[in-house]
Amino acid sequence: MMAASIQKIINPSNSEIIAEIPLAQSKDLELVLTQARQAFDQGPWLKLPLKERKELILNISRGILDKAGELANLETLNTGKPIKESTFMDIPSSAKVFEYFANNLERLLESETVQLENAQSRLVREPRGVVLLIVPWNYPLLIASWKMSQALAAGNVVILKPSSLTPLTALELGKIACGAGLPVGVANVVNASGDSVGETLCSDKRVDMISFTGSNIVGKEILGYASKNVKKLTLELGGKSASIILKDADLEVAVNSALCSIFLNQGQMCTAMSRIFIEDDIYDKFVIEFVKKTKQIKLGPGLDYETQMGPLISESQRKKVLGYVEKAKKEGARLLCGGKIPGSPELKKGFFFEPAVLAEVKPVMSVFQEEVFGPVAIVNKFSSPDEVIDLANNSDFGLAASIWTKDACKANEMAGKINAGIVWVNTYGMFYPEAPYGGFKQSGFGKELGREGFLEYARLKNIFVDKTPDSKPLVNFWYGF
Ligand code: NAD
Repeated sequence: MMAASIQKIINPSNSEIIAEIPLAQSKDLELVLTQARQAFDQGPWLKLPLKERKELILNISRGILDKAGELANLETLNTGKPIKESTFMDIPSSAKVFEYFANNLERLLESETVQLENAQSRLVREPRGVVLLIVPWNYPLLIASWKMSQALAAGNVVILKPSSLTPLTALELGKIACGAGLPVGVANVVNASGDSVGETLCSDKRVDMISFTGSNIVGKEILGYASKNVKKLTLELGGKSASIILKDADLEVAVNSALCSIFLNQGQMCTAMSRIFIEDDIYDKFVIEFVKKTKQIKLGPGLDYETQMGPLISESQRKKVLGYVEKAKKEGARLLCGGKIPGSPELKKGFFFEPAVLAEVKPVMSVFQEEVFGPVAIVNKFSSPDEVIDLANNSDFGLAASIWTKDACKANEMAGKINAGIVWVNTYGMFYPEAPYGGFKQSGFGKELGREGFLEYARLKNIFVDKTPDSKPLVNFWYGF
């Protein structure tokens, strides 16, 4: 069943409709799947020399930079995130990732030769084929760019499916990719609701790989669809990440960074450090400062340059976040500030939510275990490294963690014990195209970025050539009567 044919796109800062976008119907999906398959199997894309592929992908990077201001405005209008974040993080990082993988694709795709006794194995990296890229609404352009840059650089054809809440910059990216000179059918964007088209796209045989970023629940559904024809899958799912602040950390830096690590993008980050553990000696001081600064965060419409926190993405997301705070209070957690819908008339029409700080949260509580995906910080104390490692690892997720201390040895030792795919030491949220990223446990599998992330989008073929001196390989003798 297909949903309604038009999707109204809402500005979450004031609930106004900013665009009406057609949603793909069955015939559109059929067209895009056929077109993508043909572009991979018969089109000129795969025959292009790598140097030309590189130039076309560099054109996408330039195209993003040429439209940077427009894209930043659009991203903020659609997601509500502060314009400073779109301008200085999302858009330049999107351009950068295309530039990096374009400039490095030849090196990353280089074949390797393994010399064997009387034989040689040549390991060749080939594109996987048609890759379906499914992205969430929290970083619509950035996550689409991560996936598209790597997939194209590895020689694949892509079908990008943005969240139907936030398709605007993905649609612009599609236009930029076409304008960059990619052959027809190589970069496709489908605006559709995941509920209605997800299964069709994911289980179609013409799709060779699915690269998914989104929630744990949908990730599990996609795991089911992909199993139907055993296709390559990467899953970048949710998190419940821990920030560990040791007593020797620089308190001011730790407080400021903790604010950033949970309240940036309204807390709607997969790597949000939603559980902050503070060593008991500095707990009170930390919490006083943290709460004071949380209360000072300026809420407002995303397009206002003074805004530090915009609205949540939707009314239903706000209800969900509020529900977690209310439940935590009922279960005995102490709300230190925020956690409610702001009363001021100028924020009334948007999906704003006052950033919340909760103390005395027990590991059994839902807010400790489940991903809230909103501006809700837990501040708990600990008294020993072993205790805090247990607390940090007490989660079904394993996406990220951060450790704050001046003791490099201790940080290193603790990082080794943390069950998460990335551990930041004395920093937070650093993503580079050069370095891989991806979670453990129920945060998914596979990597994005770095050599390892890039190679998810390539398949490895072993071309084994016999080199026996007399050209009579061992197999010749088995039945060679
Ligand atoms: P979501 O899972 O609801 O949706 C993600 C995408 O999947 C959207 O494009 C959606 O349309 C599509 N989708 C929904 N149902 C589908 C189905 N049955 N089949 C195929 N596709 C379907 O996630 P969201 O609410 O958009 O994003 C928030 C989630 O994303 C959070 O859990 C967050 O942690 C996660 N996330 C993870 C990372 C990471 O790198 N690990 C990064 C960003 C966001």
